[in-house]
Amino acid sequence: MMINISIQGLRDFAEEYVATEPDRIGTEGWWQTPLLASTPIDERFDILPQVAFNEHLHPQDLLPSAKSLIVFFVPFKRELVKENKKGERPCRNWGLAYVHTNDLINRLSQELEKLLIAEGFKSGLTPATHNFDENILMARWSHKHLAYLANLGRFGTHHMLITPAGCAGRLGSLVTEADLGAHPVIDTDEACLLKAGKKCGKCIESCPVDALDENGFERHKCWNRLNENRDVLDSFSDLPKTTHVCGKCAALMPCSFMNPVAKL
Ligand code: SF4
Ligand code: SF4
Repeated sequence: MMINISIQGLRDFAEEYVATEPDRIGTEGWWQTPLLASTPIDERFDILPQVAFNEHLHPQDLLPSAKSLIVFFVPFKRELVKENKKGERPCRNWGLAYVHTNDLINRLSQELEKLLIAEGFKSGLTPATHNFDENILMARWSHKHLAYLANLGRFGTHHMLITPAGCAGRLGSLVTEADLGAHPVIDTDEACLLKAGKKCGKCIESCPVDALDENGFERHKCWNRLNENRDVLDSFSDLPKTTHVCGKCAALMPCSFMNPVAKL
């Protein structure tokens, strides 16, 4: 596929890559059309050690000559999210989708990197997940915080990012020397109903271990639940040990598939 190094070219490439993934792996797939945003790397990124993690990397730690950050979101299909709503434990397909989506994100990131390199722009990657400190549960490269700075979405009360395609899905990111400019995809200051001063809190009610409240997130409670799910579910016994999933706070919420604040 020919591509121009423009935001539209990168978006078209990502859409086609995700659309052809089900055929490649011989399933119906779990994904909807991805969203992709870019932003110039500037002084806004200096705040990451304060707001994300004190050891958070600056994009230019990955690539000193980086000019742009690219962040993308691969939303899950409604059927999958609906299936994961049932009960207090995640369904097998949610675990499978997690494993396959991380792999998809890693490969898509590498393909985007190759395209940029072929046009003469050095680029840098990190993995979709497991780049974090398991003691303090903070990532040195937080796709969520980077996606926020790229205006791909806004934080929800459930501490996930809510994009115009919702929060049920996974994020990937890379940095590049290409000067892509600012291409946001979200146009509201908030995307969470509660944070926008409206009634909601459905994610708080849905958490089986009470890890969420209006003002905070007990990340160790959540992390313990993700590990426990992996250990107690027979249907997860053949999935990798790193299949850390739950997703109840993203299942059929007002923000699962859209930015509900944009509809107010
Ligand atoms: S379920 Fe409601 S309160 Fe929770 S993140 Fe979504 S919009 Fe915000
Ligand atoms: S992922 Fe599960 S355990 Fe973690 S906050 Fe959401 S509902 Fe609670």
